[in-house]
Amino acid sequence: MIIVLFGPPGAGKGTQADLLKGELHLHHLSTGDILREEVGNGSELGLLAKKFIAAGELVTDKLIMGMIKNKIVSNGENSDFLFDGFPRTTSQAEALDEMLEENSLKIDKVISLEVEDDDLIERLLLRGRSDDNKQTITNRLKVYKNQTLPIKDYYAKSKLLIKIKGNDSIEEVFNNIIKSI
Ligand code: ADP
Repeated sequence: MIIVLFGPPGAGKGTQADLLKGELHLHHLSTGDILREEVGNGSELGLLAKKFIAAGELVTDKLIMGMIKNKIVSNGENSDFLFDGFPRTTSQAEALDEMLEENSLKIDKVISLEVEDDDLIERLLLRGRSDDNKQTITNRLKVYKNQTLPIKDYYAKSKLLIKIKGNDSIEEVFNNIIKSI
């Protein structure tokens, strides 16, 4: 099974991914987590990504797709994935479809976690990661609206999109996701 967790920064994708991967036995691929690990290791990729992350801008599609391909290849024959924070641009979504098609795979569901801006900003400020400051958050939300939101239509057209209210309790959101798939 291949699931995409979709939603704005702070929607709770990481929290739900941790619960879902255990329940559904999926391999969790969070591009944000992978990038932070690379930054932490001081790798070439990490050095390239660092300034984008700090500014709340997206890392280039080319870097992201290279990274995803490596992770998928290193997962061998296993084709159960939970994508979190990816795809984030129409071009990433198209490249993912192409890559999956080449391997006779396809996305089963796209779960969209729906949360209002005011709640997102409050949550992110509480989380306090280094890119969770007011200025970077404002830009991340703007980038989300301009570059990521269009993917929602892309997946709605292919009837894969399921909208889930993201401001219920963690357990309620989780139960609603499970019920929907
Ligand atoms: P959030 O969704 O809370 O903003 P993430 O951990 O998913 O946090 O992402 C943190 C940062 O990593 C993003 O602001 C962006 O710079 C970079 N990033 C993560 N995933 C992608 C992606 N698929 N494409 C481009 N940049 C990404």
